[in-house]
Amino acid sequence: MVKSKSTTSIATQTAAGYRVLGGRSDAGIVLLCDHASNALPAEFGTLGLANSELQRHIAYDIGAAAITEHLSRMLGAPAVLSRYSRLLIDINRGDDDPTLIMRLSDGAVIPGNAQLTTVERRQRINTYWKPYHDAVARVVANCRASGRAPVIFSVHSMTNVWKGVPRPWHVSILWSDDDRLAAALLDGFRADDALVVGDNQPYHGSLEGDTLWQHARPHNLRSVTIEYRQDLVGTVDGQRHWACVTAAILEPILSSFDLRARTPGDQRAVAAATDQEQIMSTSPAPTRTELEAAVYRRLVAHLRERPDVQNIDLMNLAGFCRNCLGNWMQEESARQGVPMSKDAAREAVYGMPYEQWRSKHQTAATAEQQAAFDTNKPHDH
Ligand SMILES: [Zn+2]
Repeated sequence: MVKSKSTTSIATQTAAGYRVLGGRSDAGIVLLCDHASNALPAEFGTLGLANSELQRHIAYDIGAAAITEHLSRMLGAPAVLSRYSRLLIDINRGDDDPTLIMRLSDGAVIPGNAQLTTVERRQRINTYWKPYHDAVARVVANCRASGRAPVIFSVHSMTNVWKGVPRPWHVSILWSDDDRLAAALLDGFRADDALVVGDNQPYHGSLEGDTLWQHARPHNLRSVTIEYRQDLVGTVDGQRHWACVTAAILEPILSSFDLRARTPGDQRAVAAATDQEQIMSTSPAPTRTELEAAVYRRLVAHLRERPDVQNIDLMNLAGFCRNCLGNWMQEESARQGVPMSKDAAREAVYGMPYEQWRSKHQTAATAEQQAAFDTNKPHDH
C-alpha cells in the first residue's frame, strides 16, 4: 500500500511502564488504558497478596486492555497502555494523590505497600508513573501537530456489583466539565434502547490530577472516561463486541468533529510542528479518501438507523445489501494485506454480530420477496 506523503504515524513501542500501540497521528483520537494489566515487576513479587487477589478488579480493569487493542486496530488510532498493576502505582492519579499507592483496596490489605518509604514512593513514581505520562504527552503532542486535534478516550471497566449492590449500567460515560464528547457518546449509546447507559455514574468523572486532567484539559481536548461493566467484557467475544459497538458510535462522531474549527491551542501546536509546511495551514483540506470514508460511514450509519429496510429488499431492488458491504470490506482488507474474517467484516457493518442483528431486525421473507429474489438470482447469497 502506498502511503500518502502527509500521513504521519505513531510507532508501536514497549518500555518499562507502558506500551504504545501505533496508529495515525491524524486519526482524531488517542486511546488510553491506565489499568490495562495486573502484572507486577518481578522484584515486587505479588506485593504480599494471594494470587487470587491479583485476578480481581483491585489489580486491573478486566477486559479494558483487549477493548483498547481492538479499538486501536479498528480506528487506526494510537493507544497508550500501562504495563503494570494499579496496585504498584495508580497511573490514573496525580503524583501527589494520597491514593496513588494503595495500602488497602476493596477490603484487601496490600502488605507490599504498607511500609513504603518516601524514597521507595519516589522510585515507583519515576520508574512506572512518569514514563507512562511522558509517553501520553508525546503521543498527544504528535497528534496535535498533525493538524487534527485528537479526542482522548480513556478505557476502563467497573465491577458489576459494588458493596453488595448490582450496577445496572452496561456502560458509563464519565466526564468533567467539558461535555462535547460525552454528550455525543451518550446519544450514541442511548440510541440502543436495550442499553442502560450511565452519565457520570457510579461516580463523577472529575478528579483533579487524573490522566485526563493532566493530558486533555491543558490543551482543551475533548475527552471522556468510559467504564464497561466487567461481567460484559470478561470474555474474548464480549471484548470484541463492545469494541465494535464503541467504534461504530465513535466513527461518525470523530468525522463530525474533524470538520469543526480548530482551537487556537491546536493552531499553535500546528505552527510549532517543524518541517511540515503542508500543515501550516490551519484548515488542511481533507483528502479525497477522507471524504469518501466519511460518506461510507454515513451510509453505514444510515443503514443502522433503518433496520426496517430488509436485506432482501435491498437485494431485489439494487442487487446488493449489508452483507455485500461486509464482503467488500473483507475483500479489500485481504487486498491491503490486513485480512479480516467474514464475521469481523460483517460486524463492522452491522455494529453487532450478524446473528444478533438477524434475530433483532430480520423479518421472515414474504412469498413475494422470495419469488423476486429467486427470479433475479443475485450473486453469492
Ligand atoms: Zn480503571
